This record gives sequence, structure tokens and C-alpha cells, in this order.
Amino acid sequence: MSERNLILIGAPGSGKGTQAKRLAKRFGIPQIATGDILREAAASGSEAGGRARSIMERGHLVPDDLVIDIVRARLAKEDCNPGFILDGFPRTTGQAEALDAILREQGRGPVRVVALVVADEELVRRILSRGESRADDNEGSLRNRLEVYDRETAPVLEHYRSALVEIDGVGDMDQITDAIVEALTEQR
Ligand code: AMP
Repeated sequence: MSERNLILIGAPGSGKGTQAKRLAKRFGIPQIATGDILREAAASGSEAGGRARSIMERGHLVPDDLVIDIVRARLAKEDCNPGFILDGFPRTTGQAEALDAILREQGRGPVRVVALVVADEELVRRILSRGESRADDNEGSLRNRLEVYDRETAPVLEHYRSALVEIDGVGDMDQITDAIVEALTEQR
């Protein structure tokens, strides 16, 4: 079977983390969540982690170079041979262009991109009622994260126009997973 290289794009609160986990399991590929990797780095007390932490807490994006290096190293690991699902990367067109270059460099097959679509009011409602507490789940930081998504990440969808499937992210979680799988397995 050929590699299954997936990118999941969605605003904060769109459910992309949950769906990425499910798809990783369904397809037997690793979930690569740059937010998780950065939170681990921040907790480790390394210098880069410390810099990332204060940026993340304010709801801004960490510098492209830092996440690009993380993703390049992660994609080179053997468990990515059957494919991967990127969750939270690329978040800027600069990151998308860097990813194109990395995939070319590493001789990988094409990617499919899934965008989870959820209206802004629903995103705010979900995040502010989220059970687990995250340092960046306060109202000020959330406003920044939504603005950053619209300004920096929404244009990434345009970059992937021809590889993109858009899925309604509102509704039953299992049905959303099924809708994604179905869209990905359709002949194109
Ligand atoms: P997430 O867990 O995907 O919501 O990411 C949490 C935070 O980590 C974001 O608000 C950013 O500060 C940072 N982050 C995660 N992924 C990226 C990325 N690809 N580029 C820049 N910053 C990122």
C-alpha cells in the first residue's frame, strides 16, 4: 500500500486533535501534533522550550524555523514510513512551503489535506467549556488564537486547494471521523 500522508487543519476548538488521534489509529500512522511537541519542550525546561512557552501562553505562533525543524526531524523517523498525520502544522504559508520542500527532500508521496470547518461562535463556546485546563485556554489568549488562525492559517487552505477536502466539524464525533475517512477513500 502506498503511504498515507495527511494534514489536518482546523481552528482551535475545531476538534482536530480528537480527529487526528482517531485517524492515526484507523490508518496505523503516527499523529504528529506540533502543539503537543511544543508543550513537552516547554515543560522540559530547555531554552527553546522556555521561549516557546511564553509565546504559546499568549496565543501567538512560535517562530516558523523552530516548528519546521521539529517537523523535519520527526518526519524522518522510521514510524512515518507508512505515512503520518500532521495535526497543527502547517499553520502559515511559510510552513506549508517548507513542508513541500521537506517532503520532496525525503522523497515522500503526495499529501491529502482535511479542513475541519466550525463556526467561530461554536469554537469559543467549546474552548471555554473544555474540561481539561490549558494555560492558553483563557479568553484573551483564545481571541489571539482565533485571530491568528484567520490571518495566518486560513490562507494555508488556499496553498492546498487541489489536495483539500472540507468536512463539517459540527456533530457526532464518530460520524465526523467516518465522513473524513469516506472523503479520503473516494476516488479522485
Ligand atoms: P495546538 O495544541 O495545536 O492548539 O497548539 C498550541 C500552541 O502551540 C499554538 O497556539 C501555538 O502557540 C503553538 N503551535 C503549535 N503548532 C504550531 C505551528 N505549526 N506553528 C507555530 N506555533 C505552533
